[in-house]
Amino acid sequence: MTKDEELPDFHSSKEFYENYEPKEILGRGVSSVVRRCVHKTTRREYAVKIIDITGGNMSPEEVQELREATVKETDILQKVSGHPHVIQLKDNFESSTFFFLVFDLMKRGELFDYLTEKVTLSEKETRKIMRALLEVIAYLHSLNIVHRDLKPENILLDDDMNIKLTDFGFSCQLNKDAKLKEICGTPGYLAPEILECSMDEEHLGYGKEVDMWSTGVIMYTLLAGSPPFWHRKQMVMLRMIMSGDYQFGSPEWDDRSDTVKDLISHFLVVNPQKRYTASEALAHPFFQQYLVEEVRSFSPFRKFRVICLTVLASVRIYYTYRNVKPVTRELVTQNPYALKPIRKLIDACAFRIYGHWVKKGEAQNRAALFENTAKAILMSIAAEEELY
Ligand code: ADP
Ligand code: MG
Repeated sequence: MTKDEELPDFHSSKEFYENYEPKEILGRGVSSVVRRCVHKTTRREYAVKIIDITGGNMSPEEVQELREATVKETDILQKVSGHPHVIQLKDNFESSTFFFLVFDLMKRGELFDYLTEKVTLSEKETRKIMRALLEVIAYLHSLNIVHRDLKPENILLDDDMNIKLTDFGFSCQLNKDAKLKEICGTPGYLAPEILECSMDEEHLGYGKEVDMWSTGVIMYTLLAGSPPFWHRKQMVMLRMIMSGDYQFGSPEWDDRSDTVKDLISHFLVVNPQKRYTASEALAHPFFQQYLVEEVRSFSPFRKFRVICLTVLASVRIYYTYRNVKPVTRELVTQNPYALKPIRKLIDACAFRIYGHWVKKGEAQNRAALFENTAKAILMSIAAEEELY
């Protein structure tokens, strides 16, 4: 049993144990472990985030810092926990060594794992997720709260596939137009101004716009299956972020609409003042489609129109079917990735086999799966070995 698999002893955490039975681990971070737990009287299931504020070889200053950070995380959670797309905080306990934050249990887990299973999402599914995410960001920003760690690992799914934003560990409530200077977040999702801030002492700081950059990275990743900024050498990746160097490459983006690309390109803008806000994004045409449920009227004209469209569609399907080139052995052996169904199959298999390598941490490298060279795969293994 490793150190973080051990449960806190009874005396340091009496209050929690009196009310809940801890069960298996659901996830873990740098100084926290999340477990399923059962409420003793109601037998209801929850998830508990156990934060060990004295773990490892921390100095007294570091312990104090972690304690303060956890109090801040709890405060923000209590403020925002009523929103339909924010995880519900049900209970919290504090001892001299541990914090216990009890949440509603999200049995379907992270959006990250769902994406790994599906490889890429359709525009329709992306629209539902992004609309909910933007609504919750607009709400947080209206309270001057910056999340600072938006990524698919921190977006959970409930039984009806609705999203719930979690992990407010880096969140901060700003006073009016105050700016932040701390470098925090996850490398692939960091906004250019956070990186500039780390390099220039004179920098004026950054604000809420950093969440909109991460939103762009998330949206791109949901549709392409791989992130917009990625390079095996972290320095190169950071340079790409700072210059906003990304592409809607082929073949992943060939079948995607111009509307969806337009929206993403309004998020991934290097200048934070020119980047879309959450409310501006919600007014983008991408979200105006399919908003109003069509009212069906069965007038004779409408019936005639439906018949004409059906005939036209049948003719089109027939001709497309006749013009389809057969999938020959040569085509499959020479360029299998060019054929959409085979491309999807290869990607799905790669994610099934190597998905756990791209799971978490500094060496996040989902994109490595798409570089199907032996070197890229070896790099993934090396990164994993460093992690564990
Ligand atoms: P950290 O700050 O350590 O990243 P998180 O709050 O993000 O902690 O939780 C870590 C992981 O635990 C999540 O990414 C998720 O996999 C799992 N998790 C957290 N909360 C829940 C929950 N309410 N239901 C199910 N799984 C959860
Ligand atoms: Mg997290």
